[in-house]
Amino acid sequence: MSRVFNFGAGPAMLPEPVLRQAAEEMLDWRGSGMSVMEMSHRGKEFIGIHAQAEADLRELLAIPKNYKVLFLQGGAAAQFALVPMNLLRGKDRADYVATGYWSQKAIAEAKRYCKVNIAATTEDAKFTCTPKQGTWNLDPGAAYVHITSNETIEGVEWHWIPDTNGVPLVTDASSHILSRPLDVSRFGLIYAGAQKNIGQAGLTIVIVRDDLIGHAMPATPAVFDYKIQAEADSMHNTPASFALYFAGLVFEWLKQRGGLKKMEEINIAKARLLYDYLDQTEFYHTPVAKEDRSRMNVQFRLRNEKLDAEFLKQAESRGLTQLKGHRALGGMRASIYNAMPIEGVKALVDFMREFERKNG
Ligand code: PMP
Repeated sequence: MSRVFNFGAGPAMLPEPVLRQAAEEMLDWRGSGMSVMEMSHRGKEFIGIHAQAEADLRELLAIPKNYKVLFLQGGAAAQFALVPMNLLRGKDRADYVATGYWSQKAIAEAKRYCKVNIAATTEDAKFTCTPKQGTWNLDPGAAYVHITSNETIEGVEWHWIPDTNGVPLVTDASSHILSRPLDVSRFGLIYAGAQKNIGQAGLTIVIVRDDLIGHAMPATPAVFDYKIQAEADSMHNTPASFALYFAGLVFEWLKQRGGLKKMEEINIAKARLLYDYLDQTEFYHTPVAKEDRSRMNVQFRLRNEKLDAEFLKQAESRGLTQLKGHRALGGMRASIYNAMPIEGVKALVDFMREFERKNG
């Protein structure tokens, strides 16, 4: 068996020990005589799996008691609609910060439910940075302020948390959740799809402050009403049970590795390897502002785009896969989530150096 270094943005590489454990437990989960996939979600085994996963996630992120953790379905894209449906709380408008492809998607969807004020945007800078707080135009009547704290496609990450004058801050943290510690108490709501840094597609995590729930629009489907799901322990209907079990194994793996502070150290070291190289070569470049560079998604380009196809082909032949940038942007992107070992990043930098030597 040979596994590749998969630099895909999601679904993405997962920790090998976790995949192995899931494989070992596939036919008989811990003496139950069945796979987690086959269990009743109301049975004691699955209720235990769910409770442990939630407890471990709470421990990893130090989630305060006055926050609910919901395990939902529909992906982060469903949250683009569900955030306004649940959080407008009778108001008619919300603030959004436009920093790239995914925040624009969130904005487009929110416009179906409310007036959207673009409180800040980095469009003029072609979405290569985060917007300086002084440039913001916050609406004091907004129900919430929405940011995308890691723009997966542009490779822009917020290494700071904005001040919103007491208006609840909401973030789409899909592509960097669990890559570093996070001060949950600064947010009203955090959401993330699982298929990047957590596990399997099909599971979406919502962490929401108690006082913000219970005011969903009447048209909100019950399975997407945060209050209803919170009261039902995310089991108003059948949850994505295997995805939740798998996420639980990843949480356990993260705890064994030393938690999020340790993961952050490793992720800084991995990202530095790649950015340091990009900073000292003329052959490749990255347009992202130094202070806003993502540790998870490294966007870069070959100055000579005619070499793109050859670069990708040779990378692939060495087991360095899915480096092609998103179709909206072109170029290259190396996603180096928690599960990407530093050896994978070293192998990529070695290959890039060699490709430069031969083609530069
Ligand atoms: N937000 C961000 C930041 C993303 O990276 C993605 C997926 N690439 C999405 C939202 C959409 O996620 P999903 O496909 O799970 O709905």
